[in-house]
Amino acid sequence: MPDKNMPEFAAKLIDWHGLHGRKNLPWQNTRDPYAIWISEIMLQQTQVSTVIPYYARFLQRYPDIGALAAASLDDVLAQWSGLGYYSRGRNLHKAARRIVEDHGGKFPDKADAIQGLPGVGRSTAAAIAVFAYGKRHAILDGNVKRILARYFGMDGYPGVKTNERRLWEKAEELLPDPGGAGMGNHIEVYTQALMDLGATVCTRARPKCAVCPLREGCLAFRESRVRELPMRRPGKRLPERKTSLLILIRQGKILLEKRLPAGVWASLWCFPEMPGDEDTHAYCNRCFNMEVGLLPPMDEFHHTFTHFRLKIRPLPLQVVSLSPEIAEGDAGVKWFTPDEALGAAIPAPVRKLFARIDDSRTVSRVLWHSSYSLEHAK
Ligand code: SF4
Repeated sequence: MPDKNMPEFAAKLIDWHGLHGRKNLPWQNTRDPYAIWISEIMLQQTQVSTVIPYYARFLQRYPDIGALAAASLDDVLAQWSGLGYYSRGRNLHKAARRIVEDHGGKFPDKADAIQGLPGVGRSTAAAIAVFAYGKRHAILDGNVKRILARYFGMDGYPGVKTNERRLWEKAEELLPDPGGAGMGNHIEVYTQALMDLGATVCTRARPKCAVCPLREGCLAFRESRVRELPMRRPGKRLPERKTSLLILIRQGKILLEKRLPAGVWASLWCFPEMPGDEDTHAYCNRCFNMEVGLLPPMDEFHHTFTHFRLKIRPLPLQVVSLSPEIAEGDAGVKWFTPDEALGAAIPAPVRKLFARIDDSRTVSRVLWHSSYSLEHAK
């Protein structure tokens, strides 16, 4: 039970958590900062139900900071396969090595130092400091921004710096009182309650205001503005880029190329990319020393990055002849069955394309059943 002198907002949340909050998630009931850190990073942009099996596998493979720091980046990215936003996996790996080098392998216990790790922002650092060390810090992830913007009836898009600063101020003002009798583990329960309320009650679509413990004080509810808050990002048209992805098929396998360690899809396995208006035959010949036959085209689709939209033209191709070096593959290119590819570190559009290959009768027939009698080594 919360202290009776605790500010109403925190007291109501803590009471509500006692009845409805989540208390047995795999990363709860531990003070291990490493395990809490992994869960907080995985939970960024990914739902709890998706994270649970990944979290268990990841901790089994890398039970502590030393194991993660000693792993190869390729191995870490392969473990991340299917979870998306691979920069999170890259940053975890980089941060583990930094903890070993700069902190003697001991996870830092101050929010400032935690925030200095790659991939850890202010809110994530605060959550780790709360759950691992019981420190009194405010969090402000997307769910909390939504709750506060509604509760205080705040106009303006929360991503704008000045609005975000106001939300941080509110988040700090609302924290349960520090120290003293009754503080107990309130900060952890309060923080978890905010997260749970955002995930299960004050959701983006169709919030359940009727059962919300904050309803009485919520301005958006009282003024019937729940649907309009928080305000959307002001309309901004992203520039569009175009690319063609080559789906090179041979003996039930598809050629993927490993991207460079920096830039878009860094260190991930992708279909080879062909610039704009190149002739496909000439390009495959020049870059891969390969003769190809064109298969019926597949539909174009878009993938949206933060700063641009990529229009992707998939080009399915049957390999007719190729050099022995490419046939064997090397560190930069490799032939994958679809199952192998889906278990490797591949970005979301490549995963999406594999699903489309499965749906395309002609392409999947070539992939699985066609005769390869035309094929021969050069
Ligand atoms: S009353 Fe509705 S809008 Fe307000 S905090 Fe609760 S769920 Fe969110």
